[in-house]
Amino acid sequence: MFVRHSNTHYPEPEQELLEHAPQVRAAGAGIGLWPNTLRELDTLGVGDDVRSMGKTVEARFFDAAGHSIRTVGYDPAAHQFLMVPRPDLNNLLADTLGRDRVRPGTHVTGFTEHDTHVEVHIADGAPLRADLLIGADGVYSDVRAALAPGSAAVAHAGNYAWRAVVPSGDERPEGTFVTIGSARTRGGYTRVAQGQTCGGSASSTPVN
Ligand SMILES: Cc1cc2nc3c(=O)[nH]c(=O)nc-3n(C[C@H](O)[C@H](O)[C@H](O)COP(=O)(O)OP(=O)(O)OC[C@H]3O[C@@H](n4cnc5c(N)ncnc54)[C@H](O)[C@@H]3O)c2cc1C
Repeated sequence: MFVRHSNTHYPEPEQELLEHAPQVRAAGAGIGLWPNTLRELDTLGVGDDVRSMGKTVEARFFDAAGHSIRTVGYDPAAHQFLMVPRPDLNNLLADTLGRDRVRPGTHVTGFTEHDTHVEVHIADGAPLRADLLIGADGVYSDVRAALAPGSAAVAHAGNYAWRAVVPSGDERPEGTFVTIGSARTRGGYTRVAQGQTCGGSASSTPVN
């Protein structure tokens, strides 16, 4: 959740990230970034840092006979993306913003729009006055719910994913993501960075 202040009467830094987690979490395994995301990261000035922490992966679908399925309208480069470790990406973004501008343990409960500003309501804290509020609070976003009633996230469909990053072993290093399984189960691994391999599996069977 981002807020921006331009009013110098307020002591807070110009931009702040309000995050209800207790700290910038080193959560998650790997994340694949496509050219559109990398373009945005270039705009933020961190594109090259992100590229140097990741590994380019080529992903294709194959038919039952093992032939690569050609996606009409896409060139070979469109099958490539950059795999990066999520914790490293989170930390880079927090450092780029400035750690002093991240307010962990801050739960936003809502906002009130005024003609000249927006008042951001915070649990256990005084409201914050800002020029702009960007609700980047995820799939269950309270900000989106208030702005666009009826836009609640769809019910959980029963799909689960398990992911982990482990030190690389002697698996093939080319970066191929292997997808296996039947009955809607999937699994695979890929190098996510130098010396790190990300493995994952997904299933549509609910687990209890
Ligand atoms: C298994 C899996 C694999 C994925 N792989 C990829 C991939 O390879 N490439 C890709 O592009 N995408 C991938 N995605 C999707 C990607 O993770 C999401 O699209 C992305 O994280 C959404 O970002 P976001 O900022 O909207 O929300 P989030 O990442 O959910 O961030 C929301 C943040 O807001 C905080 N927050 C929530 N409510 C409040 C509140 N009230 N007050 C203050 N803070 C709050 C949360 O703590 C969180 O830090 C994957 C998702 C999953 C589940």
